[in-house]
Order: sequence, then C-alpha cells, then structure tokens
Amino acid sequence: MVFALLLARAGIAVTVLEKHGDFLRDFRGDTVHPSTLTLLDELGLGARFARLPQTRLTEIAFPFPDGGRVVVGDLTRLRTRHPYVAITPQWDFLDLLADAGADEPTFTLRMSTEVTGLLRENGRVAGVHYRAADGATGTVRADLTVACDGRGSPTRAQAGLHPVAAPVPIDAWWFRLSRRPGDETSLTPRAGDGRFAIVIPREGYHQIAWIDRKGADPALRARGVAAFRREVAAVVPGLADRVDELTTMDQVKHLDVRLDRLTRWHAPGLLCLGDAAHAMSPIGGVGINLAVQDAVAAARLLAHPLRRGPVTGAD
Ligand SMILES: Cc1cc2nc3c(=O)[nH]c(=O)nc-3n(C[C@H](O)[C@H](O)[C@H](O)COP(=O)(O)OP(=O)(O)OC[C@H]3O[C@@H](n4cnc5c(N)ncnc54)[C@H](O)[C@@H]3O)c2cc1C
Repeated sequence: MVFALLLARAGIAVTVLEKHGDFLRDFRGDTVHPSTLTLLDELGLGARFARLPQTRLTEIAFPFPDGGRVVVGDLTRLRTRHPYVAITPQWDFLDLLADAGADEPTFTLRMSTEVTGLLRENGRVAGVHYRAADGATGTVRADLTVACDGRGSPTRAQAGLHPVAAPVPIDAWWFRLSRRPGDETSLTPRAGDGRFAIVIPREGYHQIAWIDRKGADPALRARGVAAFRREVAAVVPGLADRVDELTTMDQVKHLDVRLDRLTRWHAPGLLCLGDAAHAMSPIGGVGINLAVQDAVAAARLLAHPLRRGPVTGAD
C-alpha cells in the first residue's frame, strides 16, 4: 500500500489487488515506529494518523519481584518529532493509506481480488491472473509486478524465488485481557518457569504475546484453557485477577514464528517487498516498519525508471 501510494504520487498507474474484502485482521503488525511516523508526516498524513485510535509506548521496562523495575528502552531520548511507538490497529493504518491512495488519480485498489498466477511473456513476469469475489477471472498487465503478499507469498514461489530460513527456537501466542485504571502503561516483558510474556498496553485492553518453545502449540492446547490461565497468572501476577476472561483456547492465536529472507528480491518483471522478501521475528515489532522502508527505498529507485516503462534487474 505504501509503495503503491508513493508510485501513484509520482504519476505512475498502480493497481493493488487484495484477496480479502477488508483489512480486518487481529494481532497483526500494530507497532508503528518513529521512522514510519516521520514518513507519514513527510507524506502529509501525520495529522490523519494522529486521529486514529492508538496507545503511545515510550518505554520498555523489566519488573523485579521486589517491586522495582529497570527501564531498558526509553524512546523519549530519541531526537525525533515522534519519540514513541504508536500501537494502532493495522486495519486502521491500511484504511488510512487506502483513503490517501484514493485521492490519487492513478491509484486503483481492488479488494476481494485474489492473484491466482503470474502472467509470463518473453521470459519475464508481465502481470498477474486474478479471480474476483464473484468468480470472474481476469488479467492485469504490468511493467512491474510487486509481490507484497506476505510471508507465505505464493507469488514468490511461482517466480522460483525461495527464502533462506534461519532457525527459530520460539513461537508466539497472542491473546488479550482487559486493561484497568492503575495498570502498567509501559511495554512489560515478564518471565517465569521457562516462559515469557510481553504485555502491550492497548486502548481498553492489554495485548499479550506469550512466548514458548517452537512446536509447543499442540501440547498447550491439549493442557486446556484452565491450565493456560494458571500459567499466565503465574508469569503475569498483575493480571491474575482477570485470566478468567480466557474461556476457550480459541481466544489464543498461535503465530508460527519464522525468520527468513530472500537472497535476491527480484526476478525479471517481479519484485518482492515486505514479508514476502523477509519474514521478521515479532520481537521488537519491526515487521511493518521494515516493509514500509522497503517501499520507500523501492519507490525512490524505481519511480523514475518506471515512467519509461518496464524496469530491468539493473534498475
Ligand atoms: C500474528 C502476527 C503478529 C504480528 N505483530 C506485529 C507487530 O506487532 N508489529 C509489527 O511491526 N509486525 C508484526 N507482524 C508482522 C507484520 O504483520 C508484517 O511484517 C507486515 O504486515 C508485513 O507487511 P506485508 O505487506 O509485507 O505483508 P502482509 O501484511 O502479510 O500483507 C500481505 C497481504 O497480501 C494479501 N494476499 C496474500 N495472498 C494474496 C493473493 N494471492 N492475492 C491477493 N492478495 C493476497 C493478504 O491478504 C495480505 O493483506 C505480525 C505478524 C503476525 C502474523
């Protein structure tokens, strides 16, 4: 979406195809870092972003059992206009970008339109085949096709690009518990009994990342929700009074943590950006911010040559 917006503002015709009918997805990249906030200012979107629901995170602090705490990350020391991480639902952020795109005459967003394959001509990718929600199929031709289809990118695979994976010992599980007056307002990592939880304060609730061994999901679900409530209460005692809000393990979403990257991000006519080029660890919440930086870097390099037509590997 950011890449499309930047190209559209450079006068290039862009079509974004999104297979879902909306951007509503829970527990996705919600951490908007200072670098992205600065970009939004530069794009004239800062004021609109500031009106979105958000909590602003200025510090990361480890608590001690004796009640003390140590601040390991103090974002207020950053010399930038926005020295905080804005935690904003990803769908609101994407809707904002879609609205900004709609202001550009050369920007087209087609929701409920799934890419089903690559169109190839003369040894290069020349666009995509798609299927719309009503079953209608069609083709979009393009001087450049950009695979921004996430960490499982089917487009990347069809282009014969395969990421190199790094070993990852952990998985993450996401769930939420209510937030009450007087609760901790910093991002608070907590550890206990070989498990690790990161409590992220959100508007009206806490979002909790539960970190455990990779592959532990079946065992965790087999133990059941009552056992999980006990484990959460032990690791995060401050939330023990509300673990009953978890009534089924369906409220606990498993994230199969992956770390991988392409060694070459392009094939003739095709470029991969964001998670399609590099799936990031959830630790640090960098995923969307690096995807946005990919978009900025790519737009700066490619907007000018795209005005001429198809771009090459050299571009
Ligand atoms: C559970 C979870 C929690 C996360 N939490 C954070 C966080 O707190 N902070 C953070 O910075 N990052 C987080 N991330 C990572 C972050 O979501 C990604 O790094 C970021 O969204 C990458 O953006 P992207 O545009 O490359 O891919 P995505 O956001 O994955 O977007 C890909 C899009 O392509 C669409 N698509 C896929 N296939 C097709 C197709 N065939 N045709 C048309 N459309 C298609 C998908 O519907 C999707 O909308 C999280 C990821 C997950 C899975």
